[in-house]
Amino acid sequence: TWNKLLEEGREKLPKGAADIWLKTCLPISLEGGVLVLDVPNVFVKEQIQNRFLEKLEDLAAEMNVATKVILQVGKGAPKEEVKRAEKVSRPTPHPGSGLNPDYQFDSFVIGKSNRLAHAASLAVAESPGVAYNPLFIWGGVGLGKTHLMHSIGNYVLKKMEGARVAYVSSEKFINEFILSIQNNKTHEFKQKYRSVDVLLIDDIHFLANKESTQEEFFHTFNSLHDAKKQIVISSDKPPKEIHHIEERLVSRFEWGLVTDIQPPDLETRIAILKKKAEIKNYNVPEEVIFFLAQNIPSNIRELEGSLNSVMFFSDLNNEPLTVENAAKWLKDVIRNSNKGPASIEVIQQVTAETFGIPVSALTSSKRTSEIALARQIAMYLSREYTESSLQHIGYAFNRKDHTTVIHAVKKIEEAYKKDTRIRQIVDKIKEKL
Ligand code: ADP
Ligand code: MG
Repeated sequence: TWNKLLEEGREKLPKGAADIWLKTCLPISLEGGVLVLDVPNVFVKEQIQNRFLEKLEDLAAEMNVATKVILQVGKGAPKEEVKRAEKVSRPTPHPGSGLNPDYQFDSFVIGKSNRLAHAASLAVAESPGVAYNPLFIWGGVGLGKTHLMHSIGNYVLKKMEGARVAYVSSEKFINEFILSIQNNKTHEFKQKYRSVDVLLIDDIHFLANKESTQEEFFHTFNSLHDAKKQIVISSDKPPKEIHHIEERLVSRFEWGLVTDIQPPDLETRIAILKKKAEIKNYNVPEEVIFFLAQNIPSNIRELEGSLNSVMFFSDLNNEPLTVENAAKWLKDVIRNSNKGPASIEVIQQVTAETFGIPVSALTSSKRTSEIALARQIAMYLSREYTESSLQHIGYAFNRKDHTTVIHAVKKIEEAYKKDTRIRQIVDKIKEKL
């Protein structure tokens, strides 16, 4: 049964789930629909939990194997890791709030890409209902929206005794609402979410096309807002760009402050990795941190996952944490990650190299004609080769205004047709990319 599950898992679970993580587990027992797996150490346990435990349970259920999977850290787990895990001090959880005590402002690293979102979150946490209401945070996957929302909640609970805080994902909000209708408990549902001081509702774009839940949320919103209770909302897009959400909700999302989180630059990625290693109480060599930060550019969750992986492999294989080993252990991760949107950095590097100028010239405000041309080409290629928004590209070049990007794209498009020199340069860079 276990082998079958592994086999199916290879196809249906996220990449690497079966081959990297599950392979290290041993099935211990299967009773009453509960599958107990022995995992070698706490890192694997965390990885499986964070990456795909729910999906694994779904798969096991689908195959009629089990409905619940329990991970137990093996008796043979190296002592040192267990100690390490224990040493990591955990703040007290707040039952019922839906808050994860691990996500605090303390552990959130501030960089250019998230400075405003962080500042706004802190302001809201300091004076809920007063500073910005609602606070709307948007940005790509794995960039820290959920972390910030939990930080707000945890902060409020620490500071204000008796405050009522509720964190809820939009999916959970939808499910609870539907259940409450089925069970004739809509009154309780309304009561629950309209009686809080701070409502943190994550990934609001999932409300798309859910008309009745939107209606319910509309009233929840009004009721809280009227009572000057704080609402914090996150989404993968700015309010106006979320499709299939009622206009009256969209306009309310814009009542307070709308702020975004962008992918972190190299420096911030390094700082985040250092912070994570410190939290885990693990000594990771500087050059390994740098290597990871350079190679996993687009998503902090992946960045963190890669750090966990190398720590884990180093422990498991009893091999030192060196750049060579990290490269070996992360071969697949890195290959996939570099295809991602963050190749803007690579485009910048290659363009700068081709022009024989430093990368910093591209992100500077220098306007000499060669540098301006190089910059425009790099912007144009970023638009062609990545899925980044104009805004994000502008941001990667230190431009507040994305009209510069639009202008650059148009100009190079035209020039590419007419100007042989420019065409040659662009083609040369494309080749290298
Ligand atoms: P999102 O909700 O935007 O998809 P998350 O908040 O879940 O992203 O963040 C993904 C992971 O990255 C989390 O483990 C989080 O702790 C971490 N993370 C994101 N941004 C930061 C940051 N600025 N400092 C420290 N950790 C971060
Ligand atoms: Mg999230």
